Amino acid sequence: MAVTTAPVVLLNASWEVLGLVSTPRAIGFLVTKRAESVASDDVEIRSAVVAFEAPLVVRLTEYVKVPRRALELPWSRRGVRRRDGNTCAYCGGPGSTVDHIVPRSRGGRDEWLNTVTACSDCNGRKGNRTPEQAGMRMLFQPTIPTRTGVLLHRMSDRQREALAGFSVRGAEETDTYVGQRYGHLASGSAA
Ligand SMILES: [Zn+2]
Repeated sequence: MAVTTAPVVLLNASWEVLGLVSTPRAIGFLVTKRAESVASDDVEIRSAVVAFEAPLVVRLTEYVKVPRRALELPWSRRGVRRRDGNTCAYCGGPGSTVDHIVPRSRGGRDEWLNTVTACSDCNGRKGNRTPEQAGMRMLFQPTIPTRTGVLLHRMSDRQREALAGFSVRGAEETDTYVGQRYGHLASGSAA
């Protein structure tokens, strides 16, 4: 069985992106009728008993309940910088540090909505103050990135094209970049 290892997009029955799975795993879902093919490649995959076109996107036939939190990414400094495209929220220049909007010394936490990327100059100038106290304006507001947002980045163009025709749930709260870039994916209403 000649099987590619390209990851396959796994959707919930509700069209929510659950994750990426291996081709053999996706075919296992198809064979056992636990999933249906939503989009496939022209390449045919054969085994002794079945032949499938290589799946790109499969959808579970039965809804799997996933807690909302499981779809959110855990906070990390690296994640903040990636979310903001390494752009300083205060001057718009390249930023390599993470600023706590409400400083940690004032009870501000390591949370997506309390942290932005900043250059070391702006971070130093803001110091131990809130942006208001420092008289500094924020060029963008922080967002909570979801796994869906990250998964969209990791998909192939063909997979994103395949998904563009559907309402993909869970994409509403993706990061700004994904929201702008793949807004058509996020505009679908929850069924
Ligand atoms: Zn700056």
